[in-house]
Amino acid sequence: MSACQNFREDLELYALGVLDPEEKAEIDAHLRNGCATCEAALKDALAMNAMIMSMALDVVPPARLKRRVLAGVGVQRMSWGWLSALAAACMLVIALWLSVQERTRASELALTRHNLIQISSQRDRLLQALSFLDDPTTVPVSFGKGQPAPPHGNVFVHPRLGVLLIASNLPAAQAGKTYEMWVIPKGGAPRPAGLFQSDGGTAMHILSGPVDMATLGAVAVTLEPESGSAAPTSTPIIVAPVAGL
Ligand SMILES: [Zn+2]
Repeated sequence: MSACQNFREDLELYALGVLDPEEKAEIDAHLRNGCATCEAALKDALAMNAMIMSMALDVVPPARLKRRVLAGVGVQRMSWGWLSALAAACMLVIALWLSVQERTRASELALTRHNLIQISSQRDRLLQALSFLDDPTTVPVSFGKGQPAPPHGNVFVHPRLGVLLIASNLPAAQAGKTYEMWVIPKGGAPRPAGLFQSDGGTAMHILSGPVDMATLGAVAVTLEPESGSAAPTSTPIIVAPVAGL
């Protein structure tokens, strides 16, 4: 992992002005050396902070912090493509949700820090999903069409990026249960492909990494115990046949 990758999460906190002095000094020195990667990442972090703080009033960052961050990023420099708009909408929802969840926390600083990391990882997931949708090599396969009231949606398969699942009408798993995705090779046993939950009837799950399109038979989802299973223990709720794509 390069130094820049190490700085990545710290830059979010740096942008908020909540880093420890030694960590801050380290990043200051790195930026002074003219690292374009980190410079760009910092701008991104500042823009995100400004966006969150100007939209999600309920997050309640200290007023001086808000002023400092808003001053730090020229609003005219932010270009609002559809991607930004979508990301902003998602982040607003997440920020509001988190602010309600975490309101009772004693430390405002801890709250801000926690929220930012959550939002940052949500943003990363969203961007990862968008990279699937944006790539012409991605093969979409729909599932659940024409059945009475099943989950429906799409599986997106990409030979290098992996598998993206987006499902609607998927009820929340009951207590102690989770959804598990499976990648099923033609004529082979299902391989575990990660656990996920449904939130408000919709779910998004990503299996990252190369997929052998030639041997891939299907992608499926079952309901499993909370810790997940090594092999499916229930009838699949979702089956997306991807063979022969
Ligand atoms: Zn760097």
